[in-house]
Amino acid sequence: MGLKILTEHINVPGINTFETYRKMGGYRSVEKALKTMTPDEVVDEVKKSGLRGRGGAGFPTGMKWSFLAKPEGKPRYLVCNADESEPGTFKDRVLMEKIPHALIEGMITSSYALGARTSYIYIRGELMFVLRILEKAIAEAYAAGFLGENILGSGYSLDLHVHPGGGAYICGEETALLESLEGKRGNPRNKPPFPAVQGLYACPTVVNNVESIATVPWIVNNTGEEYAKIGVGRSTGTKLISAGGHLNKPGVYEIELGLPVEEFLFSDEYCGGIWKGRQFKAVVAGGSSVPILPAQLFLKTAEGTPRLMTYESLSEGGFVSGTMLGSGGFIAMDDTTCIVRNTWNFSRFYHHESCGQCSPCREGTGWMEKILHRIEHGHGHMHDIDLLVNVSKQIEGNTICPLGDAAAWPVASAVRHFREEFEWHVKHPDKATAPGAVYRGA
Ligand code: NAD
Ligand code: SF4
Repeated sequence: MGLKILTEHINVPGINTFETYRKMGGYRSVEKALKTMTPDEVVDEVKKSGLRGRGGAGFPTGMKWSFLAKPEGKPRYLVCNADESEPGTFKDRVLMEKIPHALIEGMITSSYALGARTSYIYIRGELMFVLRILEKAIAEAYAAGFLGENILGSGYSLDLHVHPGGGAYICGEETALLESLEGKRGNPRNKPPFPAVQGLYACPTVVNNVESIATVPWIVNNTGEEYAKIGVGRSTGTKLISAGGHLNKPGVYEIELGLPVEEFLFSDEYCGGIWKGRQFKAVVAGGSSVPILPAQLFLKTAEGTPRLMTYESLSEGGFVSGTMLGSGGFIAMDDTTCIVRNTWNFSRFYHHESCGQCSPCREGTGWMEKILHRIEHGHGHMHDIDLLVNVSKQIEGNTICPLGDAAAWPVASAVRHFREEFEWHVKHPDKATAPGAVYRGA
């Protein structure tokens, strides 16, 4: 069994209550930080831990914290991004639903480190039942003196609020989230300035993902140095992976970073292999915003080295600048999956969720959806395949926020790795549109 930091107590009966959470050692990090550490010492521990943002970008959390501006007379804010909407990603939801106090404890310790006196959890609007769980847990923390005025007699005070989104995927982008929290339409802002300088109400703000914040108590209790010993290289610690698609055992798993992909996919401790004894065809490893890869490439690098579950190993050299571990939304596809249909489905999603501010994204996502629709429905032409790639290139890198790239990458990678499947759809419109038709080789 791998080390469990976030999920060790997740199945303890009553762990969603303050009483049980506290009995299991909860809120120790608040006591330790507020009574024995300065805010800068907490920031230093997080820096030493090497913790990287668990929302998807993998940006070093301690570094982000140290960028926080501290102008005289302006409040600072910590905002937790709980707007988990990435297709295939449902790990934060499980954490908040089952063990809400882990997030609240992390919010208090992190807010103290950042000098925030008011903090927010911005939660996906569809998760109203989780919002209620969090509100109940926050009320318990206030009653126990862990929130409010003069926490534990330390002189530090904090108010914590939960705010629901309205159901727009784009509000998970941090600046759109801040706009929405301010009561405006959730349009992403141009960066820079980054929120660390000008965030909520134009004040310095740190926006961190649920899982990142919930990890801070362990780091404070055990030191950043101990956390940095877990994992591999620059991918330290553990990571929650939401595994879905055609798997024997879909679910949320906590893994130590550096676990071989094959072990994660095929061992009984984790996903238990591809369901119904079928072949593993393709995967999207980090939510739908990363490339679609054929199984073989995903299990091994081009040189034949096994891949590890790390930010570095799950990158496709030269093609994507970021990482494919992303939000940890692991979607496995068996050999009955039509890649064209799947790519069209992703495209529909991004077209629908584009905020429409910049033309490459607004127009390009629409174009990609239309072209994919006609290829999938038997009306495509050969030149449509290159047109798709062309449109995706016009979007990539030319937009205000990463939604544009996220829409372009799955399309470009699908054509790059599964081109013959697109060609088959064009050449055999009748076969391709027959119910349940799937390309199985020429
Ligand atoms: P990003 O790389 O632009 O930024 C990462 C973080 O670092 C941000 O908080 C940003 O403010 C901060 N940062 C970067 N440079 C900085 C600087 N110079 N100074 C101060 N702060 C700086 O990525 P992003 O836009 O935050 O996120 C994109 C990722 O989100 C994608 O990789 C995708 O995987 C993920 N995503 C996740 C979900 C989900 O539901 N979890 C949904 C959509 C997308
Ligand atoms: Fe809006 Fe798309 Fe531009 Fe992002 S990339 S700001 S979602 S139009």
